[in-house]
Amino acid sequence: MWGDAMLELRNIQASYGNVQALRDVSLTIHAGEIITLIGANGAGKSTTLMAISGIVACRGGQILLQGREIQGLAPDRIVAMGVSQVPEGRHIFAELTVQENLDLGSFLRTDKAGIRRDLDYVYSLFPFLAERRHQSGGTLSGGEQQMLAISRALMARPQLLLLDEPSMGLAPLMIKQIFAIIKTINKEHNTTIFLVEQNAHQALHLADRGYVIENGRIILTDSAERLLDNPEVQKAYLGI
Ligand code: ATP
Repeated sequence: MWGDAMLELRNIQASYGNVQALRDVSLTIHAGEIITLIGANGAGKSTTLMAISGIVACRGGQILLQGREIQGLAPDRIVAMGVSQVPEGRHIFAELTVQENLDLGSFLRTDKAGIRRDLDYVYSLFPFLAERRHQSGGTLSGGEQQMLAISRALMARPQLLLLDEPSMGLAPLMIKQIFAIIKTINKEHNTTIFLVEQNAHQALHLADRGYVIENGRIILTDSAERLLDNPEVQKAYLGI
């Protein structure tokens, strides 16, 4: 049903000083999938994403992107190999215009025609960004900034898009819109999605499969449908 393994994490471990954030994280993401990683505050979700994108160094384990080891490579190499991250809290550049924020997303690329096509694509996904291309990023609302952060990541033309809590701090209607766009990017743009979320309910409704992380370990994995029906998941993460 799914393509080959896009990304494989094998027994990843990572620490901040003597705080061991990841003890044993193994997971597989196939090409074309939407995978979610759910877990409580401090469980290790953001660290998992930062280990993949090369921002946090691993102490052990392997990270394979389409079968190639990427652990230890510099973050810009990993972006150039097709992995883009939308960080928690968005981190758009408030003083730069919308257009300049988007230009930063494509700065490693030299294919001008491709960049132009991707710019047209993100402006078609988010027409308000085209209208406000000369406005500074800091003047956008929280939800609009999230859309700009997603667009900036798309400008690197990723095969794998890593999203860190895109719903954080947003109103329910905005969350719905952002999740609908994530689905569109997956289907229309053929982009594999790895979504980290505390909002387990929304995330499992969007995803094909999910992993549950607790204290730096993957404790459960299943189809999103079955995780939604799992009484332990319901009790711990869905408030049922
Ligand atoms: P949240 O949903 O709150 O963002 P998370 O699941 O993403 O949580 P991480 O941010 O990956 O969790 O944190 C995992 C562990 O590592 C936690 O114990 C956290 O306190 C610790 N940690 C994270 N960043 C740092 C840091 N820069 N220095 C020291 N410890 C850190």
